[in-house]
Amino acid sequence: MEIFNDTQKEIARRIRPESNISNWQDWKWQLKNSVQTTEKFELLTGINFPENEKKLMKETLKRFPLSVTPYYLSLIDTDNYNNDPVFKQAFANINELTVLKTDMADPLSEDTDSPVEGITHRYPDRVLFHVSNICSMYCRHCTRKRKVGDVDSIPGKEQLRKGIEYIKNTPQIRDVLLSGGDPLMLSDSYLDWLLSEITAIPHVEVVRIGTRMPVVLPYRITDELVEVLKKYQPLWINTHFNHPREITASSRAALAKLADAGFPLGNQSVLLADVNDCPRIMRKLVHKLVQNRVRPYYLYQCDLSEGLAHFRTPVGKGIEIMESLIGHTSGFAVPTYVIDAPGGGGKIPVMPNYIISWSTNKVVLRNYEGIITTYTEPESYESKFCDRNCEECNLDLQLEEPDEQKGIGIEKLLSDYDTAISLVPDNNERYNRRENNGG
Ligand SMILES: *Cc1c(COP(=O)(O)O)cnc(C)c1O
Repeated sequence: MEIFNDTQKEIARRIRPESNISNWQDWKWQLKNSVQTTEKFELLTGINFPENEKKLMKETLKRFPLSVTPYYLSLIDTDNYNNDPVFKQAFANINELTVLKTDMADPLSEDTDSPVEGITHRYPDRVLFHVSNICSMYCRHCTRKRKVGDVDSIPGKEQLRKGIEYIKNTPQIRDVLLSGGDPLMLSDSYLDWLLSEITAIPHVEVVRIGTRMPVVLPYRITDELVEVLKKYQPLWINTHFNHPREITASSRAALAKLADAGFPLGNQSVLLADVNDCPRIMRKLVHKLVQNRVRPYYLYQCDLSEGLAHFRTPVGKGIEIMESLIGHTSGFAVPTYVIDAPGGGGKIPVMPNYIISWSTNKVVLRNYEGIITTYTEPESYESKFCDRNCEECNLDLQLEEPDEQKGIGIEKLLSDYDTAISLVPDNNERYNRRENNGG
C-alpha cells in the first residue's frame, strides 16, 4: 500500500535534506516539524505568495496563529491552491480579521456553561471535557478560535482532577466527551491515566473522544495508542473530515486500525463556503466515510465565532444538501444537520419538511422523489396515560432504579405527569402584569 507519495518525499527532503523518509510516519516528527510561518509554508509547498498578500497574511497570523502538519500540508494542490479545500482549512485568510457585529468570541457560551474549568455541562446527562489546549493543526474554521494558540499546553493532572471530581460528584453524567483542543495530543500514558480515572466512575457509561488526528495527522493512530484505548471500551471516536480529498491511504489506514479495534467511528463535518458547500462533494464525502466504516454523525452549520464570516453559508445550503442526501443514499450515510444555538442552547437539528398536511385520520407526506403520499392513522389506538408509575403499566419497562429525570421543554408539555400547559419566557410582560394585579 502506498503510504507516501512523491510530494511527501519532497517535503520531507525540504524539511531536512538528510531526513529519513521513515520519519514521515512518526507523529512526533510531524509535530516537531509543523509549519508555523508563511516563509516555511512557502519553502515546503513551493508556493510564492504575492508580497502584498503576504503582508496581510502576517497581520492575520498575529491574531490567529498558524500550525499545519507536513502531512496535511502535503495534500494541498499547489498548482491550484487558491481553490484548494485543504489550503483553505489550513492556511490563513485575511478575511479572518473581518469581525461582524453579530460575531461572538464564545457563541456557544461554553465558558459560561462551565461549572469547573475544563468542563462544559450543557445537557442533562453528558459533559464536554476539554482535556487539551492544543491541536496538531489549527483549523482556520475552529469554533474555539478565541482560544487557539492561547495556552499551548496540556493541562496537568491537578487541573484535570477538578473535571474528574465534578463528573464523580454529578451522578446524572453518563456520557463524557473528551475534546479540546485534540485529546490525542496527550501522550499514551497520560491518556491511559485519564481514561482509567473517568471509566472508574460507576455512573459513566460511555466515553467519547473527538479528534481530528485521522484527518490531519493519521500517524498518531499507532498500535500502542490503540492498545491503550482498547482497555476502555465502550469508547466512541468521532473525527472531522470535511472533504473527500482528505481521505487518503494514510487516513484510511488510521481509520481501519480504529475500526478493527472495535471502536464505533463517527464523523462531524462543518459546512464551509468554498470548501464543501456542494451536494456532490458532500455525497462523495459521506460515501467515502461509510466505505471506511465511519458513520456520518453531524453536519454543522458554521458557528458565529469571530473571524469565520467568510466560511459561513446560508442555512438554505445545508437544507439543500440534506435534500440531496435523504432518500437518495443509504440512511446510515446521512448525517444530522445541526445549528449549535448561539447563547448555548445546544444543537438544533434542521431538515427539509416531509410532512405536508395532517388530519385526524391521515398524514400527507412527500418523499425524496416528490411523490405525495398518505399514511392512514390507526383507528383503534388507546392513548396511554403516563404518570410515570411504571409498575402499574402494561409495558414491560423494568426499571432497575427510579428514573428521576424531569421533563424538559416540549417533552414536558406533551407529558401527562407534568401539569404545565405552556412554556413562558422569563420576564414576559403580560405575566408580570398579572402578578402586579395580584393575579
Ligand atoms: C455537542 C455537545 C455535546 C454532545 O452532544 P451530542 O448531541 O450528544 O453528540 C455535549 N456537550 C456539549 C457542550 C456539546 O457542544
